[in-house]
Amino acid sequence: MYTLGIDIGSTTSKCAVIKDGKELVAHSLQTGGLGTGGPEEAMAQLWQSCGLTRQDMACAFVTGYGRKNYEGADGEISELTAHALGGRFVFPDLRTVIDIGGQDAKVIALSPSGKMVNFVMNDKCAAGTGRFLDVMASILRLDVDALDTEAAKATAPAAISSTCTVFAESEVISQLANGVKRPDLVAGICRSVASRVAALARRAGVTERVCLSGGVAQNDAVRQALSDELNVPVSVDPLAQYFGAIGAALWAYKQQV
Ligand code: ADP
Repeated sequence: MYTLGIDIGSTTSKCAVIKDGKELVAHSLQTGGLGTGGPEEAMAQLWQSCGLTRQDMACAFVTGYGRKNYEGADGEISELTAHALGGRFVFPDLRTVIDIGGQDAKVIALSPSGKMVNFVMNDKCAAGTGRFLDVMASILRLDVDALDTEAAKATAPAAISSTCTVFAESEVISQLANGVKRPDLVAGICRSVASRVAALARRAGVTERVCLSGGVAQNDAVRQALSDELNVPVSVDPLAQYFGAIGAALWAYKQQV
């Protein structure tokens, strides 16, 4: 039996197909989330990659910021449930999920059996989310996927003291003008995101194993800084950005058996 999960985020749309609740057979991602052609494009890419069709899916669930306005699924689940399920699919011993997406960050604490026991979320402020990194990358004329390699060249990471993205933007521009090297600024920017997310994580409670989910998981400088701040190893997986979609597909399977 095939089931489909769709994660319509603020920034990207992701899809995943799971076979018999066990095997990931296809996944896709397109830029553009809620209110764009992203979901349809991600779906078209998905079918093209696996040769299956929507009719082959026994059930489809949608999650993510845009889930309420999507009509092509059989039901919707919260992002918290989806990320927890998707995270446990990859890391069966997972106890803490730190999801850093395009517009929010969440920390989900799980029991040893995977039940959600606590969560803390920041969806009010762009600092501590992918948006902060996107804004800073554009000021520094870098792609977001180049931030971690740039940060790795830092010799004296810059301190970014502003707690607001708009003020931090001015701060970075003035530090650049004052001759602070780009790698040092990028390292400071990644640390700033990590320190904000670490504060959330401490409120939720951090138990090993800890993993990152969401797009920012691909930024190893943020992962490393988070691990240093929390003093625990933080795991990542290449599928981290798909945990929501995978979790929704697993949930769809659970509704069928
Ligand atoms: P959402 O689900 O809210 O749409 P995602 O979990 O897809 O968000 O994460 C999107 C964010 O991930 C972007 O804002 C960007 O900062 C970050 N990101 C995306 N791709 C990469 C990459 N290759 N390397 C580092 N960061 C990335």
